[in-house]
Amino acid sequence: MIDKQQDVIIFLGPPGAGKGSLSRLCTERLGWRQISTGNLLRYHMSQGTELGRAVKARVEAGHLVDDSLIAQLVHDWLQEPANLCQPIILDGFPRTAAQAQLFHDFIEQSGKGLRVSVLHLAVASEAIIERLEARIVCSEKQCQTVYSARPGSMLAPKKAGICDMCCGPVVRRADDDISVIRQRLEVYQQHEQELLQFMAAIKRPVISVPGDQELPSLFELVANRLGVEL
Ligand code: AMP
Repeated sequence: MIDKQQDVIIFLGPPGAGKGSLSRLCTERLGWRQISTGNLLRYHMSQGTELGRAVKARVEAGHLVDDSLIAQLVHDWLQEPANLCQPIILDGFPRTAAQAQLFHDFIEQSGKGLRVSVLHLAVASEAIIERLEARIVCSEKQCQTVYSARPGSMLAPKKAGICDMCCGPVVRRADDDISVIRQRLEVYQQHEQELLQFMAAIKRPVISVPGDQELPSLFELVANRLGVEL
């Protein structure tokens, strides 16, 4: 099913569903490209750019940022030819039906022949809260690799507090605080159904997989469902 230069796979799921960790395996093992809108926004915030300053308060409170602003970020990224030479993962975008509509219009007008499908990761809210409370991430904003602080977790960094990838300090995300986690989950749940309905209406394939499993088996299942040979 996966075809170089053509496939765009939307990773859709609540915060903490494993979109980032799964993306990491897909980029490392399959050579796919990923854009994470959350990572991009945090990068801008850390650099204090105009965009970063404009979105900071909303991101830190767990609210969504403006639809057209976020769609523009993704569209700009997709204009870079280097980003189009492998299957592309959209991690955290679109998050509303309005964003999905803007993205659909962009794809239709771009003439790039991009083929869009959705990977829907379903995870129960209790499991999400447990995961996010244990989530730690590399604080180097070019890296932002995700780990778990849960004792014995296979996602723990090899050296406590240090990123395996870039040796940066591994910390908790400001928005992984319990009240903000609940807010983010609520926002996700408000939009999930309308997003899935929109994708069905424009006839994009939606592959649903249970996200409440260990990463290696999730990766194998996803590869299998997407028709990727490992
Ligand atoms: P994430 O890292 O995907 O959990 O995103 C972190 C935060 O960035 C979200 O809680 C939002 O404030 C913001 N954000 C990321 N992606 C989007 C998006 N597609 N639309 C609106 N806000 C977003």
